[in-house]
Parts: sequence; structure tokens; C-alpha cells
Amino acid sequence: KNRVEILGVPFDIITIDEAYRILVDFINKGQRSSSFNRQNEEDNPKQSRAKFVITANTEIVMAAQEDRELQEIIKKAHLVVADGIGVVWASKYFGEKIPERVAGFDLMNLILKKAPERGHRVFLLGGKPGVPEAASDRIAKLYPGIQIVGCHHGYFSHEEEDKIIRNINQGKPHFLFVAMGAPRQEKWIFRNLSRIDTGVCIGVGGSLDIFAG
Ligand code: UDP
Repeated sequence: KNRVEILGVPFDIITIDEAYRILVDFINKGQRSSSFNRQNEEDNPKQSRAKFVITANTEIVMAAQEDRELQEIIKKAHLVVADGIGVVWASKYFGEKIPERVAGFDLMNLILKKAPERGHRVFLLGGKPGVPEAASDRIAKLYPGIQIVGCHHGYFSHEEEDKIIRNINQGKPHFLFVAMGAPRQEKWIFRNLSRIDTGVCIGVGGSLDIFAG
């Protein structure tokens, strides 16, 4: 896989369309492995089947300089895309030019747009109470037939977390969008990844606020 490292953050050198194709591939492979390698997975309960994507901008790159945990999380991500023209611009000085910006909102919107025809289910997590619900309504109007299997605001206690994860897994989403701001959302995804059954988790910052309008 082609990557360029910018101040310790390894970025995938890809366009938004390529990123989307990789995510679909993750999902298809994940489904295959969950039926064929079940035995293997039971032997390895810690091994997570979910993949996670980071859309990283310059702020994340800078934050990672001082945040060891974030650095490790970024290194373990399955895909890191350049969410900002600053990163795209910097990439050519660090070895190879990233072809274009892949903004979290744009990637999410592309996934949502294609979801009805592909039968992809989505779950929205994050934003103030009422925001993910409003975003769901809007997305359902934009992309008729889309299966939004659930949503939950992003201000929950540690005690509520188990219930929320059970709720997510019950809906069997292909995509879990976590909109709790960076790097909070990345840390949340990483900490819970092994409990999330399948699909792709993506931190999308304030995207639900944008959809909610
Ligand atoms: N958010 C959340 N839970 C939190 C904190 C923030 O769901 O504990 C949501 C917030 O409602 C907003 C999004 O995360 O929709 C981005 O929040 P913020 O502006 O604080 O983060 P930033 O944009 O600075 O990354």
C-alpha cells in the first residue's frame, strides 16, 4: 500500500473514489471472513473484525506530535486519508504528492449516496442530543431507501456505552460514523473497536451538525 509519512503520520496516497473502493473491499472481505473464519475468530476474541478510518488534517498531525496515544492509534488505523489541503500540500515535500483532499464530510456523503443501491446500512453516533436524529431525517430525504439502522448522541456516560454498542451491533451497520470531534472520536473508536462486530468505523468530526443544518 502506498503511503507518505508526514511528521510521523502515515497517509494513504489515494483519491476519494479509491478510498471508497477500499472501504467497500474491507466490508466484503469482512463478511467473507466472518462466515469462513469463525473458528479462528473465536480463538482470537480480541481480534477485531471492524476496520477504522482516520480522516486526518493538519490539526491531527500537530496533535499527534504531543499525543503518544493518538500517534499509536493513527499507526494502527486501516486507512488514513488527507482531510485538508495543508496535508495535501505538505505531502509533496515529504516524498510523494497525495492526489487530492479527502474530507471526512465528502467521504461520508459519498458512502451515504451509494448506500441505497449497495444495500449498505449505516449508524450515526455523535453530536448533541437531537442532532443525529435531525441528520438522519435529512439523510433519508437526500438518499431515499437508505437504511439508517440507528443513531445516538455523543454525550453519554461510560455506563451507557455497553448499551450503545449492543445497539450498534444489533443494527449490523456496514458503516459506523462517529462524529464526536477529533481526536475524541478516534480514541473512542480505537478503545471500542474489538467490541464492534463488523464494518467500517469513521470519525467524521462535525459532519452530523452539517447534515442536521
Ligand atoms: N461532540 C460529541 N461528544 C462530545 C463532544 C463533542 O458528540 O463529548 C460532538 C459535537 O456535538 C460536535 C462534534 O462532536 O457535533 C465536534 O465537536 P467539537 O466542535 O467540540 O470538536 P472539533 O470540531 O473541535 O473537533
